[in-house]
Amino acid sequence: MASKKPANPARELLFGDLWEFDPAPESASPHIAPRYDLFINGKFTPPRSKKYLASISPRDASKLSEIAIANAADVDAAYKAAAAAFPKWSALPGAERGKYLFRIARLLQDRAREFAVAETLDGGKPIRESRDFDLPMAAAHFFHHAGWADKLAYAAPGRSLAPLGVVGQVIPWNFPLLMLAWKLAPALACGNTVVLKPAETTSITAMKFAALLGEAGLPPGVVNIITGGGDTGHAVVTHPTAAKVAFTGSTAVGKAIQRALAGTGKRLTLELGGKAANIVFEDAPLDQAVEGIVNAIFFNQGHVCCAGSRLLVQESIADDVLRKLKLRMRHLRVGDPLDKNTDVGAINSMAQLERIRALVQSGLDEGAELYQCPASLPSKGFYFPPTLFSNVTMSQRIAREEIFGPVLSILTFRTPDEAVEKANNTDYGLSAGVWTDKGSRILKLSSELRAGVVWANTYNKFDPTSPFGGYKHSGFGREGGRQGLLEYAQLV
Ligand code: NAD
Repeated sequence: MASKKPANPARELLFGDLWEFDPAPESASPHIAPRYDLFINGKFTPPRSKKYLASISPRDASKLSEIAIANAADVDAAYKAAAAAFPKWSALPGAERGKYLFRIARLLQDRAREFAVAETLDGGKPIRESRDFDLPMAAAHFFHHAGWADKLAYAAPGRSLAPLGVVGQVIPWNFPLLMLAWKLAPALACGNTVVLKPAETTSITAMKFAALLGEAGLPPGVVNIITGGGDTGHAVVTHPTAAKVAFTGSTAVGKAIQRALAGTGKRLTLELGGKAANIVFEDAPLDQAVEGIVNAIFFNQGHVCCAGSRLLVQESIADDVLRKLKLRMRHLRVGDPLDKNTDVGAINSMAQLERIRALVQSGLDEGAELYQCPASLPSKGFYFPPTLFSNVTMSQRIAREEIFGPVLSILTFRTPDEAVEKANNTDYGLSAGVWTDKGSRILKLSSELRAGVVWANTYNKFDPTSPFGGYKHSGFGREGGRQGLLEYAQLV
């Protein structure tokens, strides 16, 4: 509830002076253990390295827990457990496998608030997002694939599906539990067993999830979750037992994995970075578009592979859009991610904060014009104010490189052809947005834009039934939908 009114309410309307909100901290307990071991063959097992890394909360830079660092021998033990579990798991009738997936989905729903608080503390995203997006979507992926488990015969007409074997999966830190769900649910539905590694800065919800698998009664070895950094990830993706590797993360690491797997015959899907164009035409409903622009770039602090980080605005409305956008940004509440009123939370790690700062500095050095939210940031923790750059040219680093932070670059165009050319003038091809009143233009652009997903008059909408994935340096393979399911099966 508002506690302080602005001195002059008329100014609020004209200039966007802020109402101040009372703190509304989320109070549910996240039940975070002081230390997490590796989850191998259904048991929590200390790492052979005897080493742990500190899991730091970006909210206030405090230590939340300790996460085991798995070495090659641990990874090997995880693959052995997964290989041993494969014959029985893959031979179960689909309806039986589905029961486990339904149980996991329901358990996630039951414990949604606890998991949401843990996700927010560990990763820095606003509790509003982990509560209303990450947790419901993670459960939805398990529900969706539970439904597929006994209907695999209908996934590819005239063909049957067989599992691949043991799958190695590595995920990033921006949607830790949701990426885990995207990876595990289709793999398990198809009858594969899994070795999964979460990102080193956000392993807590994956380890809480491992404990939940015990409650669901999942047979030991079907899912093994091991933690650690890049070396552990390398051991997971190069292990000879892996029949398939599924990786979500940066393009640089994705390329290294592709090189390492070349010639091995292993299946590979790569979900990598992006630099999406969000295109606004002069006939678009502008207020709605401004909301969409804000959602596209500031959702999850911009730590979103498909973030609309390049705004392409038709020249005739550019001044209007910029003015409305700045006004809207003044109302974003930036700060404590545990506060239910927070719109933009903490940057995931100090390393990511430094990367954002360096790219923003490059924008200034290269002559772009900066505007930042007048937000007072918490004194502890890792925070960066929502930022926009105007006067941006296509050659500047801020227009070409993935910033993975709350930073928007605004460019202009005159004709639809110029918009498409600029949108496609990037190494990436994950997503795009189109804002216009014309249905025919939406259809034309969605076929001309080289992006795996094109949203029209909306942005960042996800559904387990809808395939997601990229072109070019954004990777290959799809997650979600029937296409995503088929990535985890062979056709026989
Ligand atoms: P990252 O590539 O640094 O790390 C991702 C994961 O790979 C982590 O678990 C890390 O420990 C592991 N890893 C690091 N080096 C490895 C190696 N040599 N071999 C195997 N594994 C290794 O990426 P990040 O910084 O965690 O995540 C951000 C990136 O992920 C962004 O580029 C973002 O666009 C991308 N992403 C893509 C999607 C998508 O669906 N396309 C979704 C989310 C994030």
